[in-house]
Amino acid sequence: AVAPVGHGLIPIMNRLQDIFAHLGSSFSINLPQVAVVGSQSSGKSSVLEALVGRDFLPRGTDICTRRPLVLQLVRLESSSASAVEGREEWGEFLHLPGKRFYDFSEIRREIQMASVEKAETDREAGMRKSISDKQIRLKIFSPNVLNIALVDLPGITKVPVGDQPSDIETRIRTMIMSYIKYETCIILAVSPANADLANSDALQIARNADPDGSRTIGVITKVLFVLDIMDRGTDARNFLLGNVIPLRLGYIGVVNRSQEDINVNRSIRDALASEEAFFRNHPAYHGLSHCCGVTQLAKKLNWILEQHIMAVLPTLKSHINTQLVAVAKEHATYGEFEESKAGKGVKILNTLAKFCEVFSSMVDGKNELSTDE
Ligand code: GDP
Ligand code: MG
Repeated sequence: AVAPVGHGLIPIMNRLQDIFAHLGSSFSINLPQVAVVGSQSSGKSSVLEALVGRDFLPRGTDICTRRPLVLQLVRLESSSASAVEGREEWGEFLHLPGKRFYDFSEIRREIQMASVEKAETDREAGMRKSISDKQIRLKIFSPNVLNIALVDLPGITKVPVGDQPSDIETRIRTMIMSYIKYETCIILAVSPANADLANSDALQIARNADPDGSRTIGVITKVLFVLDIMDRGTDARNFLLGNVIPLRLGYIGVVNRSQEDINVNRSIRDALASEEAFFRNHPAYHGLSHCCGVTQLAKKLNWILEQHIMAVLPTLKSHINTQLVAVAKEHATYGEFEESKAGKGVKILNTLAKFCEVFSSMVDGKNELSTDE
């Protein structure tokens, strides 16, 4: 049941990368970053974790994200013969070069420690208590991921606590904007269902960065939690259908693990299965399966990534064409060779052209985002 981000795209990207491997380093597809924004404890870290399908982020009511965490997923060649059971996926921090973390709960501990240390060091620098804009950079190496970067950001707080500076909210907003202002950033705007969506910090800051909503997905968390206080048939549906605040790419409702689930170490797999059952069985969500659940969120993200790949393919193709012409010209000055560089170039170009066709028809064939399983 686990459907992490990029899952369906991995074979496609692998084939493209195989093609690019013949062409040199100037050919690659840079996928957009994905960043989560929202108020503190809205469930941002929980959403990212569910999308990656691994437990490794600090979450909880009083353990907040204190520094931006840039998480780079790095695809490993799966055929590596040396892979030992349980040793084919690991994490590495930029600030601890060469140290491989195979145990994902140790990764969480390290993030927590790095956050606190840095935040404490920054006290002197005027950034008191809790928030620092210095990134933590973590790479996760795995045969099962796309090369994509995900960013976990500190949440928006309105009221300074402890000895936080009075302008803490402005500082955090500026920090968030510095990530999401780029056209190449996909924004997951996370709002808990138990707060007023019309005043959602997440939707507000996302709209500042992306006024026409072309790269913002609304994520409603804690859907389960509020069912009892909502008018079941209408409120939840209206949120998700965009009747409250319209959003071009729409909303997805999710049920993350609660604090209690976290305390008893409930697995992501387990949580996803019960989330799925919840949405399937609850009458309030009947007919809304396309906008409910982490799996649907991953699908929506994958669809956006597909569109991105589609959009950059023509440029890549003409780039290859140009190089091919140059190589052919150079070749002509040498006379005849067996299995020439130009001959290889033609083969590669043909492969890519064929690939583009297949890919286009694949995407056309499933233009309906809300395909049922
Ligand atoms: P962040 O501060 O936005 O990163 O939020 P976290 O992901 O750390 O979650 C904050 C708290 O809310 C944790 O205790 C989570 O277990 C809880 N939480 C997050 N999402 C949900 C949800 O969908 N339902 C429930 N019941 N609790 C959630
Ligand atoms: Mg967090």
